[in-house]
Amino acid sequence: MKKNDTVQVEIQDISANGEGIGRADGFLLFIKDTVIGDVVEAKIVKLKKRYGYGRLMKILQYSPNRVEPRCAFHRQCGGCQIQAMNYASQLEFKRNKVENDLKRIGGLEGIVVSPAVGMDEPWHYRNKAQYPIGRDRAGRVVAGFYAGRTHTIIPNTGCCLGVPQNREIMETILEYANHHAIPPYDETTGQGLLRHVLLRYGHKTGELMVCLVLSGRGIPHQEELVGRLRVIEGMASITISVNETRGNVIMGEEILPLWGRGHITDCIGDLRFQISPLSFYQVNFKQTEKIYEKVLELAGLTGEEQVWDLYCGIGTISLFLARKAKKVWGVEAVPQAVEDARKNAAQNGIENVEFLCGKAEDVCSGLTEAGAGADVIVVDPPRKGCDQRLLGTIVQAGARRIVYVSCDSGTLARDLKVLAGAGYAVGEVAPFDNFGGTVHVETVCLLSKTTSDACITEF
Ligand code: SAH
Repeated sequence: MKKNDTVQVEIQDISANGEGIGRADGFLLFIKDTVIGDVVEAKIVKLKKRYGYGRLMKILQYSPNRVEPRCAFHRQCGGCQIQAMNYASQLEFKRNKVENDLKRIGGLEGIVVSPAVGMDEPWHYRNKAQYPIGRDRAGRVVAGFYAGRTHTIIPNTGCCLGVPQNREIMETILEYANHHAIPPYDETTGQGLLRHVLLRYGHKTGELMVCLVLSGRGIPHQEELVGRLRVIEGMASITISVNETRGNVIMGEEILPLWGRGHITDCIGDLRFQISPLSFYQVNFKQTEKIYEKVLELAGLTGEEQVWDLYCGIGTISLFLARKAKKVWGVEAVPQAVEDARKNAAQNGIENVEFLCGKAEDVCSGLTEAGAGADVIVVDPPRKGCDQRLLGTIVQAGARRIVYVSCDSGTLARDLKVLAGAGYAVGEVAPFDNFGGTVHVETVCLLSKTTSDACITEF
């Protein structure tokens, strides 16, 4: 087989990037815009030693799992890779993905992975959107989403994963920007003002947040823009995030108030939380309560335990844990999130919780030394998983149970391998569909200590 050859391939799996995977002539081929069960004709565009990339030319046999994608941009946009698969197949794919990663990356055989828990309606579930701002060919200011693996903006203010209110807010901002010729930021030259717009919505409270990411500290005709945005039903917070850096980090670290509060609030179960622009908040309002319920169940608290909640964000999981534990320590790297967490504890009247600001890998060893050991540890790291130093500290802390909440099954598997090697048995593995239409999967996993202290002393 060589470049430009045309081959026939049956798609058997989906890669971490969302391409379909099949085999031809002993090669593993990655083919974008295909779904499991398709038989396709593809042209080889790149060939390595054992694998290659093909371009989809023709679908010879449609997968029974194919559906008409709801979004007209889904092939161009980098957001949803598997919208063309029906929802039941998406859930099945995600369960298998977790199982395969645990085997392939974690070397963990015979682990039972539960069916992925899905949403009743897998649309409009995201409570956060970040729109990049740019220009179209005609020079008009536009907002939308990056085309897969590029920084080309596909104009679209009405993504069907986001909440319907986003469209009205974005159209208002674009009208204003075009009327007053506000220059969008240009990444290649570093010129221009308006970089991104961050929107958030509290589903239980109906509160809306707009945060304008600018390369400066203000925007012309500010009062007019605020006047138009504040009348949108639910508007609670309008701020500026100042980002003067080059590079692709979206948010700047300084937040300036424009109107309303500096944060919005939302409820999970019977607890209320404040959420600032720089703080992490679970993006899927339909799934969060289900995930937190599972975390609590697996933590198995009786009221006597000392608990660490690592990567705790605004303290959401920490507060639920605190109501069932003796004491909880939450650790989080982003200072604004820690501020939110402390206020959230106070406002919900929860006193047996303490929040520490810093990287978990730096802070936790000090906790043990200070006598603040852990019976149960919850970790909920970003996609890159736990720092390896932190895993060492966790093992040393000797917690009875660890509940690992993961948004990337690859790094989950890598970390479970380390913990399993250090005497923890992997128990329940429960995937949740937090990110419908995409290849991403959220997983809650229980690890229980198998080697008892008595056993260690005997050796
Ligand atoms: N458990 C929370 C947040 C999970 S998201 C919730 O359910 O909402 C992961 C969090 O880890 C983010 O708030 C991020 O700011 C934080 N974080 C990232 N790297 C970190 C590190 N090295 N140490 C501590 N926190 C970190």
